This record gives sequence, structure tokens and C-alpha cells, in this order.
Amino acid sequence: MISVAEARRRILDPLAPTGVETVGLADALGRILAAEVRARVTQPPVAVSAMDGYAVRADDVARTPATLRQVGEAPAGGAHDGVVGPGEAVRIFTGGPVPRGADTIVIQEDADADGERIAVKAGAPPGTHIRPAGLDFGEGDVGLKPGRILGARDIALAASMNCPWLRVHRKPRIAVLATGDELVMPGEPMGPNQIVSSNNLGLRAFVEESGAEAIDLGIALDTEESLETLAAGAKGADMLVTIGGVSVGDHDLVRTVLGDMGLDVDFWRIAMRPGKPLMFGRLGETAMLGLPGNPVSALVCGLIFLRPAIARMLGLGETSVRRGKAELGRDVAANDRREDYLRATLARDESGALIATPFEIQDSSMLSRLARADCLIVRAPHAPAAPRGTPVDIIPLNPPGPDSP
Ligand code: AMP
Ligand code: MG
Repeated sequence: MISVAEARRRILDPLAPTGVETVGLADALGRILAAEVRARVTQPPVAVSAMDGYAVRADDVARTPATLRQVGEAPAGGAHDGVVGPGEAVRIFTGGPVPRGADTIVIQEDADADGERIAVKAGAPPGTHIRPAGLDFGEGDVGLKPGRILGARDIALAASMNCPWLRVHRKPRIAVLATGDELVMPGEPMGPNQIVSSNNLGLRAFVEESGAEAIDLGIALDTEESLETLAAGAKGADMLVTIGGVSVGDHDLVRTVLGDMGLDVDFWRIAMRPGKPLMFGRLGETAMLGLPGNPVSALVCGLIFLRPAIARMLGLGETSVRRGKAELGRDVAANDRREDYLRATLARDESGALIATPFEIQDSSMLSRLARADCLIVRAPHAPAAPRGTPVDIIPLNPPGPDSP
């Protein structure tokens, strides 16, 4: 059995970033930027008003009250072509270009209009409420750098920089194949000894949540023929992820069948709980990750290995799983040689300290506990018994709540 760290290294090292593709801004949310974004325009393109009011000469309103004559209008998207002369004012609106001659804006609250006559009650030094050309950015400025996970603010910026398309990393294609005679899809008719398959749908969501594209290969029966037929669907994918069938039971065919198909196995057992029967290898051009069948094991191994693998294929520099610190909410026994990932809740005590309390039962089939958990407590191999209050490493789980570290 190899360690979690060693398994992680052996999975990540051979993975190369996927290629680059172009997407429209409407499809760019959550994608990873592959090339810098430079402004194709200057914003604002000319000096504009930041308020509704009057564009005037500051000298004319240095002493108030002052009476000016309105000679035109400058709405956003329009312009006053003439020059603002002494004693003159141009009605201006937010975003309207500041006309030549004017050097300040009197806000409309500080002026009373009576036809063409504008009575200014309070002056405004030069430059007041004027956004100079290029205040936000100039043409050619770098707005976004490669590696950025594109959020709504980035998309707004790229749009205002007049960049309708972006270069992003192609989403890794992850084929997901469940295995087991006992499994039916949710809602399907069930035999007496059958259970509902949770993992293929759960992993598919997990893959998409991690920024990759999931290809659902369905559920293979525990026969060579069925496994071979469905596994063939992984051709062209960046990674095949199988669920179950990787331990040493009589019905655990994945290693045999994929082996016949040319699978080059790197390792197939790791010192981790949940998740001992984890397999990794290569099937031609496609990486292959064999996850354990137990639902909690599959999702926890997904978090520890599959998410970093996807991050690596997406070209992200940071692939480590985010960790935090908390105090144990109850005593835990000494650990054996497998690195342990305990499902736990998080809460703050009266002093504000973050307390992680593991569930009493840590059975790897219990999705109810996994769904209720706020974090995983990581216990090193051979960690000694630890009393309540001991500081521990935790991995926060989604969605991050207000109390998340
Ligand atoms: P296996 O590794 O195939 O022996 O599976 C270990 C355990 O996980 C068995 O109890 C299976 O019934 C269960 N299991 C395997 N795949 C799934 C799945 N897709 N959904 C729910 N449970 C599963
Ligand atoms: Mg099975």
C-alpha cells in the first residue's frame, strides 16, 4: 500500500494540461483563462460627467449665486458640439461627454433651471464630477491574467474591454462508469436485493463542480462483456473514472477486464480510510482512476485525488486541497496505518474557537452523514489517541457556510 501523498504525486505527475479553446463571454463563467485579456478600447473613451447636472467653466461659478445660460445638452451617447463660453452652461447627464470649454460639473441639486436661465447656488472647483478619459483603463492595458477562474466580475470587465471571446483551457473530459449487478438508476424498477446507484450521478456532479465535463457511461454489470462494452466509451476522454469493482472480491472485474484492454496499472491500493482500493493507471491516451464502490469512499477519494487531477488538467497552478484548523469536539482513538478522513460537523464554541466533531459512526456507505458533514478531519497514519480540544487539520466541504474557516 502506498501513502496518500505518494498516490497523489503518481496521479498528478503524468497529467498534462488540456489544450486551449475560444469561448464567447456568455459561456465563460467558471472557465480558466489561458491567455491575458487586454483592453481593446479606452474606458471612458473621452472625459465624461459622473453626475446629472451642468457642464460649466469653474471660473463662472467661483462666486455664487451665479446665473448662466444653457446653450445645449450632452446626454450619454450624445455630445454637445460647441464650445462652452463664459457665462454658458450645457445640460449634462451621467456618462455624457464633457463639452470643450467646460472644466467642471455643477450637480443639478445645486442649480435651478428657469427655461434657458440656470441659477447656480453652489460652485464646483475644476474637475469636479468629471471622469477623465481612460479613468478605468486604457487601450492595451492588461485586465485579466492567465490562470484566473472567471467569475461574474471578470466577465463584466472583459465585456467592457470589448473582448467578446476569451481563450480558456478546454474542460477535461471525464468518463464515469459505475459497476455492479446490484445497481439500478434512481426511479427504475428494483429487484429485492438491489440498491439505487448514487455514485455515478454524484460523481458526475462532482466532476462538473470541479470544472470538467462529465461523460456518463452508465452502469456495467459484473460481467466481462458488459464492462468491456461500456468502458470502450471512454475512448477520447482525458480520464476514465470507474466506481467499484476494484477490491479483491470475486465480482471485482475492473482490473482484469481493463487489463485485457491494455490498462497499464500504476497502483491499486493506498493507505487511506475511506478508500483503500484506489486504482490508477493508463489506458492508451486516457488516464484511468478506479474509485472504491462505497459511496462515501468514492466521493472522498474524488475530493482528494480527482479534483486536484482536474485542476492540473485545467492548467491551474494550485492543485492542493484547501485545509484549515479546528479543535476536536470529542476524544478519538489512536489511528492505524491508514490516513483517516473523518466526517465531522463544524461549530464555534463560546470563545469563538472552531470545533470539529466527528460522527460516532464513520461507515463508508453512509451518504447521510457525508451530506451533513461540514468538513473532513484528517488524521495522519499512526496518530496517537487525541482528547477533545486537540488541534486537528480539517478539509472544509462545500458549500462554505458563514462559519467556514
Ligand atoms: P465494490 O467495490 O464493487 O465491491 O462496491 C463496494 C460497495 O459499494 C458495495 O456495497 C456496492 O454495492 C457499493 N456500490 C458500488 N457502486 C455503487 C454505486 N454506484 N452507488 C451506490 N453504491 C455502490
Ligand atoms: Mg461491485
